[in-house]
Amino acid sequence: MNASAAPIRTTCPYCGVGCGVLATPAGAEAAVVRGDPDHPANYGRLCSKGSALGETLSLRTRLLAPRIGRETVSWARALDEVAARFRAVIDAHGPEAVAFYGSGQWLTEDYYVANKLMKGYIGAANIDTNSRLCMASTVAAQTRAFGEDAVPGCYEDLELADLVVLVGSNAAWCHPVLYQRLLKARQDHPGRRLVTIDPRRTATAEGADLHLGIRPGTDALLFAGLLDYLRRDDRLDYGFLERHLAGYGETLAAARTTAPSLPAVAAACGVAEGDLARFYRWFARTDKTVTAWSQGINQSATGSDKVNAILNVHLATGRIGKPGMGPLSLTGQPNAMGGREVGGLANQLAAHLDLERAGHRALLREFWNSPRIAERPGLKAVDLFDAIAAGRVRAVWIMGTNPVVSLPDSRRVRAALARCEFVVVADCEAETDLTPYAHVSLPAQTWGEKDGTVTNSERRISRQRAFLPAPGEARPDWWMLTQVARRLGYADGFPYESAQAIFVEHARLSGYRNAGTRRFDISGLADLDPRGYDALPPLQWPVNAEAPQGTARLYAEGRFGHGDGRARLVAPRIEDLGRKLSAGLPLSLNTGRVRDQWHTMTRTGKSPRLSQHAPEPCAELHPDTAARHGIANDSLVRLETAHGVAIARARVSADTPPDSVFMPMHWSFRNASAGLVNALVNPLVDPVSGEPESKHTPLRIKPWRPLWQGFLLTRQAVPLPSVAYAVRAIGRHHWRHELADTRAPGDWPAHARRLLGYPGEAAADNPGDEWAEMHDLRAGRYRCAWLRDGRLMGCLFVDRAALPQPREWLGGLFARESLDDADRRSLLLGKPLAGEDPGRAVCACFGVGVNTLRQAIRDGQLGSVEAIGEALRAGTNCGSCIPELQSLLAERG
Ligand code: SF4
Repeated sequence: MNASAAPIRTTCPYCGVGCGVLATPAGAEAAVVRGDPDHPANYGRLCSKGSALGETLSLRTRLLAPRIGRETVSWARALDEVAARFRAVIDAHGPEAVAFYGSGQWLTEDYYVANKLMKGYIGAANIDTNSRLCMASTVAAQTRAFGEDAVPGCYEDLELADLVVLVGSNAAWCHPVLYQRLLKARQDHPGRRLVTIDPRRTATAEGADLHLGIRPGTDALLFAGLLDYLRRDDRLDYGFLERHLAGYGETLAAARTTAPSLPAVAAACGVAEGDLARFYRWFARTDKTVTAWSQGINQSATGSDKVNAILNVHLATGRIGKPGMGPLSLTGQPNAMGGREVGGLANQLAAHLDLERAGHRALLREFWNSPRIAERPGLKAVDLFDAIAAGRVRAVWIMGTNPVVSLPDSRRVRAALARCEFVVVADCEAETDLTPYAHVSLPAQTWGEKDGTVTNSERRISRQRAFLPAPGEARPDWWMLTQVARRLGYADGFPYESAQAIFVEHARLSGYRNAGTRRFDISGLADLDPRGYDALPPLQWPVNAEAPQGTARLYAEGRFGHGDGRARLVAPRIEDLGRKLSAGLPLSLNTGRVRDQWHTMTRTGKSPRLSQHAPEPCAELHPDTAARHGIANDSLVRLETAHGVAIARARVSADTPPDSVFMPMHWSFRNASAGLVNALVNPLVDPVSGEPESKHTPLRIKPWRPLWQGFLLTRQAVPLPSVAYAVRAIGRHHWRHELADTRAPGDWPAHARRLLGYPGEAAADNPGDEWAEMHDLRAGRYRCAWLRDGRLMGCLFVDRAALPQPREWLGGLFARESLDDADRRSLLLGKPLAGEDPGRAVCACFGVGVNTLRQAIRDGQLGSVEAIGEALRAGTNCGSCIPELQSLLAERG
């Protein structure tokens, strides 16, 4: 593989949009990446994260060989150990004493083999994945409403709709390419409307006609109110209800009681009556309406009910499965949908078969010719780790995910893993927060190396293709599972030598004794040979004899998956989160994503350009809340809940509601000593779906006043400094650390040399070393810079207060082979003697900083996003920064 090779068509490994990517390898650790113009999810577009994929392929921190404890061992020995220990636990304590915990990052083929091994051969259903944290509420709600877990619509509907409602979705940052498609459609068709419903005024709201900043947790009430409004306004499609729904009257009656009047709903939701009336009116009078939602709805203790409240209004108006109308769940992960298709959750069976139905269990056992089949649902994610803590699950194999970072109440998860008899971790990274708990570590292949399929939010199956050689001894997850299955004595059921062999079995199963009873049917792909599999174009399921080219939409004809063919309305439970706050914990913690990072940053954290946009974990809070708690913008704050403590940088913004604090989810202990948000989050779950409540944990906040604050820039990677507040981010040719502590070292020069990784005695042999230092004991100020042969190796700035020095300018000096006199004179000042610091990067694609943009808007009199693009190129590639450009333009007034 080389740079002159033809690009390989593959799929982005991040969000559920599932964009097609053309990747051309450039050496073993880099690739040139661009959007695939022929992929129907993105038609050539990529967002900032997708555009930077080529920067995330470094092997520096990869796990490249199996380990038992810290000892490197052969694959044979590691696999023998895993199989022997699992066998011993199963024999002694039964099949439910072992578990798998997987990932929405898995490819469908990995999922299929893991699920088959656990449910069909080990004979328990203890396999759950991090998809439980992402969209289990939608799975539960769609199953209740439609009788099966199927997404009715497709992305094109967003472009055809006259009204798009985004609920609990910051699509501008979390599904950026889809959001760009939506904005383009609105640009091309003036008059089309966008409504966003979210307690926060996010970047997505920048382009909306109406933003309803509802009180957290009131989404279901708002949609129950809408259902009753539609009834009162005579907008229900009674013909559709009569023909295709069962028992809808009860839900209509419940809505009447729950949401007695529009003023009552507006007051309870905390929105202006006029705004709510406008939204209800628009919805009632616009046939072509799409409602799309994401984690703001799903990640809730009443998430399933919230989704059902949304599905209710579409079913009741018959607006489903037709061009430009329908409900559309936006999945977070790249293959959360694929996992659902193979029954990758603890309460599912493969191919949309129902674990609770004896006939379905028998059918699956017959197809697999397996010795047994799980008879009852297994443990869902949060329950699984509770069972580990209680000693009921004694061996767990964790694959492609890091529950120590991503599950709520991480202290509890860590305690559970610490007492678990046997923990296997399959990961592509050598050291994560999970590594210390692993008895066996297995090196996994990752994006660019592995082959298989993923399914995006619109049911579209796409190929992920390898374009790089697998490094070291890294292997696909399906291969590891197959090897262990064989060692457990199940060789006949696990003959797989390729992803293609697994996929065709999965496709055959979907059609097995189906006869139209299950929508998930890709039997049209069951005969794919290796060449056909390799060439497989992106297709939306069902793909079968009736629809060989796939199916864009479902349910327009009104035939649903319940036994009677009819859908159901479900009366949602209405919860008042305000009741859970108290004088001691008066605020609500809301968690989410930032624009340029993905999950726990093991991939995006390797990209310098992605790390510039939000280099520190922040706590975003309203100006009134900040004033009440004596918190200044950019200061450090201490956040505390009943579960733990974190420290973050305050971002004061009227975009966050007054009773709420927002904190992003990406930082682990690998890159932030006190920035792990799941140290704070409560382990409360939705009783129907088992999805954790990540959007509301009672919290208190106060200023955190360290003795000193500082920042450290180093050319080489150094260990995360052991201080109370330390955050690491990668820059071009350097690493940046923000630091603060309540205790100071006695000898700053010596301490600085340790932090900078200065090689002690060896330095005496290097006459090229130069040090510049400035120390003002009384002011509590210390600065130093280390140069080697004229090149900047590192610098440390320390002060009693927060340091305003421009890290971006200083970071830029690492790109120079040698510093000139002007640079040296400026170095300890921490700012250029002449010229401007670009500031924090807003446009990741072209590295355009906030100071540059503000100045250009001011001096250049730039009045539009297009004018900025023409002058600075910002916003002209992926478009992810356009909402922020709009905010900067709005600042000017
Ligand atoms: Fe990847 Fe961005 Fe497309 Fe999501 S929107 S799949 S992150 S390129």
